[in-house]
Amino acid sequence: MRNKPQELCWLEAMKHRGHLSNEEQNSYQRLSNGIQGEVIFDQLFDHFLGNEVSYLDDVTLDYRGDVLQMDKILQNKSIVYLADIKNYQGNYVYENNALKIGGTVFANDIIEQARRARRIFTRLFEDYQLPLEIKNVIVFINDQGRITLNDDLSEIILNYEEIPSWLMSLRGQTQASQSMNWQNLIKNYQISHYGTKRICTTERFKHLKKGVHCAKCGSFSLTSKRYVLQCACGYVEAKKIAYLRTICECGIIRHHLPLKRSEIVDFFGKGYSIDYIKNTLLEYFSPIQPNKKDGKYQNYGLPFEYWFKNELDQLEKLAKRKNWQNGL
Ligand SMILES: [Zn+2]
Repeated sequence: MRNKPQELCWLEAMKHRGHLSNEEQNSYQRLSNGIQGEVIFDQLFDHFLGNEVSYLDDVTLDYRGDVLQMDKILQNKSIVYLADIKNYQGNYVYENNALKIGGTVFANDIIEQARRARRIFTRLFEDYQLPLEIKNVIVFINDQGRITLNDDLSEIILNYEEIPSWLMSLRGQTQASQSMNWQNLIKNYQISHYGTKRICTTERFKHLKKGVHCAKCGSFSLTSKRYVLQCACGYVEAKKIAYLRTICECGIIRHHLPLKRSEIVDFFGKGYSIDYIKNTLLEYFSPIQPNKKDGKYQNYGLPFEYWFKNELDQLEKLAKRKNWQNGL
């Protein structure tokens, strides 16, 4: 599964409950375009290749102090492809070693970035004597975007309509042992890229909209029944999950601090049971100091789906059983 970066989760939560500055709004747009492009590429990849090609998603690597991020890394026979996915709209031209749109030259050279990544991976593979060739592939995933190449490049550059045939050319099983080698090697140097430097101050936090919002349409007008929260859009969510999801959302917004019970109670606002919040915290979160009852809990700053990834099935089953036994 491809996780959203924490910065995007933070911006989404802030946007939902308050206002973003222009700079934040631009970052939000750029990051959400980026992830959308990656998800579209993943869908095409799964559709045309299924399990035929071994791959890693979203790799941030630190090799001897050189840090880089790759959207997808895949192997076919003796070639490892480093894929950059660009969800750009408009007509781009690459000439004289620069990417241009209209008359404007892009400040960050996507080809040079890709080459840097290839140099670092080449060094890594050579140092460990992995006999695999490394190639760059830059994918223009947006069907409203095109790139025209006026320079001769050794990198593979794909426009939207060229993606299916390129993916199909990769069909053919690679030996499992070979694939484990490069994946394990990369995993040794993988680092977490999750954290965001953006923080929400106490003052800004006070002004955010309070309450639980619908997981589907985002509305804050929910009807609380005994075991579920119901939205006018038709979405029904188990109360337990809605509370956990909202506590995690507060955790994302204030990711730089521990979860604080009193702050979470404020975040839910009027109409939500303080006892239910307290019990949910006790049951599902780890106190910072187990012997002290100071209402502070470990904060991973992750959305509910990532934080409770391993408990998700069980939580949903439990919620369904309760609904079935008790009606709504
Ligand atoms: Zn709704």
